[in-house]
Amino acid sequence: MKITSSTKICMNIGGLGRKSMSPIMHNAGYQELGLDFVYLSASLKIEDLEDFVKGVKAMQIRGVSVIIPFKQEIMNFLDNIDDTAKEIGAVNTVVNDNGRLTGYNTDWLGVVNSLKNVTEINGKKAAVLGAGGAARAAVYGLIKKGARVSIFNRTVEKAKKLAEDFDCEYFPLTDVEKIKEIDIILNMTSVGMSPEVDKLFLPENLIEKKHIVLDAVYNPHETKLLKNANKKGAKIVYGSEMLLHQGIEQFRMYTGVEAPEKIMRDALLEALREE
Ligand code: NAP
Repeated sequence: MKITSSTKICMNIGGLGRKSMSPIMHNAGYQELGLDFVYLSASLKIEDLEDFVKGVKAMQIRGVSVIIPFKQEIMNFLDNIDDTAKEIGAVNTVVNDNGRLTGYNTDWLGVVNSLKNVTEINGKKAAVLGAGGAARAAVYGLIKKGARVSIFNRTVEKAKKLAEDFDCEYFPLTDVEKIKEIDIILNMTSVGMSPEVDKLFLPENLIEKKHIVLDAVYNPHETKLLKNANKKGAKIVYGSEMLLHQGIEQFRMYTGVEAPEKIMRDALLEALREE
């Protein structure tokens, strides 16, 4: 990759100590297509977010992918927020068009496009476990594609708020045996994420062959939840597929060209194997 004064810069930002796979995936795509782009990564303190956004304009950074904990906070500093991101209540993608910053959300596409490869969504019953940013995007996407959604969360007030925003039912995480009646189970919590890879709140015996199980957690690549689901013969969707599909959409928004899906998936999986 040759970097010059005309190379366009994209990057991601997350909280201090957060590691991201996005540079590997996006740079592999730029290289494959010979695009004059580079993708960087930075960790920030939340109190520096407003200055960072000014820097995006000053340095003419073309695109910024936003991860925890900035997805809501960054909305305060942008010039425009698209309707979908407003409805979800979170921005994971910022595009800089000649100094005007617009916030979008591609996480919901990560959910629906990764599920599309294994199931029809329309008419299915889906259980979203969690009520944070990823869960909000999942609930939006599933409802948009015609699923009936139930939300389960440890903090019931957060489940209630999300359920009211999207007009669906909600339960405390302790009622999780209700997933027996469900078709698609989506873990949108951080439970099972490295280093606490043995953490699990869904008892193994609840998962059956009829289920489709998506885990947003992508580190480790095969989480304990997905291992259990695999053992039961359920269809599984890796968190890396969700990450890939939200990134594919960002790639198109930043560069204006279609992303090379296979190259980006291969780069991502290789990096996850090395973790
Ligand atoms: P978030 O806004 O901080 O929400 C975290 C969620 O996890 C909340 O619902 C929280 O419940 C729940 N939770 C945390 N620890 C728990 C525990 N010990 N027991 C039960 N529930 C627990 O985070 P987020 O942005 O939604 O991200 C959630 C996960 O999705 C993270 O692992 C993130 O890396 C992953 N993610 C993946 C992708 C992808 O493309 N694959 C995209 C976005 C996010 P409470 O409300 O009770 O605290």
